[in-house]
Amino acid sequence: MDRLYRKLPKLEPGSVWLAGAGPGDPGLMSVLALHGLRQAEAIVYDALVDRRILDLARPDVLLEYAGKRGGKPSAKQRDISLRLIELAREGHRVLRLKGGDPFVFGRGGEEALALVAAGIPFRIIPGISAGIGGLAYAGIPVTHRDVNSAVAFITGHDSSGVVPDSVDWLSLSRGAPVLVIYMALKNIEPIAERLLAAGRGRDEPVAVVSKATTADQRVLETTLGRAAEEVASHGIEPPAMVVVGDAVRLRAGLDWLGALAGKRLVADPLEQKSRSESA
Ligand code: SAH
Repeated sequence: MDRLYRKLPKLEPGSVWLAGAGPGDPGLMSVLALHGLRQAEAIVYDALVDRRILDLARPDVLLEYAGKRGGKPSAKQRDISLRLIELAREGHRVLRLKGGDPFVFGRGGEEALALVAAGIPFRIIPGISAGIGGLAYAGIPVTHRDVNSAVAFITGHDSSGVVPDSVDWLSLSRGAPVLVIYMALKNIEPIAERLLAAGRGRDEPVAVVSKATTADQRVLETTLGRAAEEVASHGIEPPAMVVVGDAVRLRAGLDWLGALAGKRLVADPLEQKSRSESA
């Protein structure tokens, strides 16, 4: 491990590493992100970055929270980019730490482009996105040979908070058997309505995975027809992923976290489905 570390790139003074911290569990961070965390003199982090990850930073680190707390999101985003540039120009080794992957619904591209414009050297460190790794912790594979050969990653709200019109719900409903939706909790009712209107079935399985990979992870298994009502009645809290499609059925066999806590897994979750359908 020490030999590996010695060969990793250095976080140079005056430069920025834009890194993904993964969905929560600190063990899911990459070696390179951890390496950046240990070298950083200044860390600018998001609301979704787990506290246990920040605890791995140097004791003398300058820690700055850059979560969005209302206000104009675009102005705030600009402030974050300017702050990264300022810290780098002051000669710090800067780590910009984001939840999941910085390039997946994380505005990492915008921040990186601001660094390009300012002439600041930077490196991108990918992270495990909630829509893949978070679902794996719920025992839901985003692809499975007998279920889907395509998957769509979608955002459930736009910058003003409503269901985005830029998403072609009809085409996605028809083209992608499995839909993985970020930021969908608040809009779950209109989203489910759009998917139903596009022809997806009321009985189609849906899972809502809240606080994935943390100690507070909760998974609600429901259907497209009942999802909105059950999210409310079960008090499911953000951040949460919503996944729609038969991949959810695999959880009966692959909920490995549940199994570690004593749950019995079935080896043929998809067989069980066809048996109950023909019954
Ligand atoms: N860049 C991040 C996504 C940022 S958008 C990534 O790649 O994961 C924020 C959304 O991500 C949240 O609204 C939620 O839908 C999802 N999310 C992030 N962390 C999560 C977690 N631990 N559990 C469930 N959903 C999560």
